[in-house]
Formats: sequence, structure tokens, C-alpha cells
Amino acid sequence: MKQFDWDRGFPVDFDLNTGRSKAAETTRRYLSQMQEMFFDAEAVKEILKKEDPLIYEFYELGCPERQGDLAFGTTILYPGMVGDEFYMTKGHFHTRLETSEVYYTLSGEGYMVMENPEGSTAEIPLKKNESVYVPRRYAHRTVNTGSVPLILFFVFDADAGHNYGTIETKGYHKRVVARDGKPAVIDNLKW
Ligand code: MN
Repeated sequence: MKQFDWDRGFPVDFDLNTGRSKAAETTRRYLSQMQEMFFDAEAVKEILKKEDPLIYEFYELGCPERQGDLAFGTTILYPGMVGDEFYMTKGHFHTRLETSEVYYTLSGEGYMVMENPEGSTAEIPLKKNESVYVPRRYAHRTVNTGSVPLILFFVFDADAGHNYGTIETKGYHKRVVARDGKPAVIDNLKW
């Protein structure tokens, strides 16, 4: 992407569905691409019979994966449910496990769901105008527990790399579901 000059700097306008002209293109993730990640396989099937909802999208600026660069962007995670489970991102480990990440919540609410390879887990609430620090070694996924899009700004080491595979096959230890109309973190019985 030519409009982003990673050697001389640049401004970028993330068009967060404000109707202004787009400066960057989003990558989109639909339910059909995340079927195994939601616990309730029947609910997934029922939804896909009727539609293939957009779960989230994010801005990729094509930052070169060089040591010292910082990749950054925004994620828009839509509100919704699959069975009793809130919409969420796929989540990932960084290939270079010893790299961290910062997220800032621009709108909406939810959770950052994290776990490390040793099985230590943590869920940090995402609140508008607050930051969350995702420490080194922790896989991270965001969950939208609200009724409006959860919009997050993120920045991480450009050469961190993304490892989706590990967490894709085993899932996370914890799931965020609705219980009596409220979000609750429960054990993933499939783990
Ligand atoms: Mn990350």
C-alpha cells in the first residue's frame, strides 16, 4: 500500500463507519470462517441457513514486518450472539511469543480474553476510553458483550507474527456467555 510511508511517516484516517472516505481497506471475518470457534455447533448451522453475518473487520495497513516497526490499526467487532455466546474475534498467539500489545477502546464494551501456553487465563473488561495491556506470551481475543460495535485501536511489534493455529484447534479455556441477561465467563467444556 503506497499511501503508507513506513520510512517517513504518515497520517491515517480509519473510517470507522462514519461515512467519510476510506483511507484503508478492512479485512472481514464472517461466521462461515469461524464455525468451529463457537461452542454451539447447532446454533452456527441454524444461523448459516439464513445468512452469513459479518462478525468483525479490521484495518490492515501492510506494515513491513521489520524489527523496530510498530503495526497498528483498529478492529470493529459487531454486537451479536451465537447460541449463548457473544460475538468474538478468532484471537491468536504472537509467533514471537515474547511480544506484547496495547489496545484502546474507542467505543462499546466487552472483554479481552487471554491465556498463556501454561494455561494461565485472564479476562480484562474493555471499557470506552480505557486501555488494556496484553502481556507477552498471552493469546488474546476480544468479545463484544454490548449492543453497539466494539471498536478498538491496537499497536504491536510489527515482526511479532500471528499464530492462529494453536488456539484455533484447541480453543480457549474460557468462554464469555449470557447468563440471566448478563455476561459471564465460564469454562470451555470442549477444552
Ligand atoms: Mn496480537
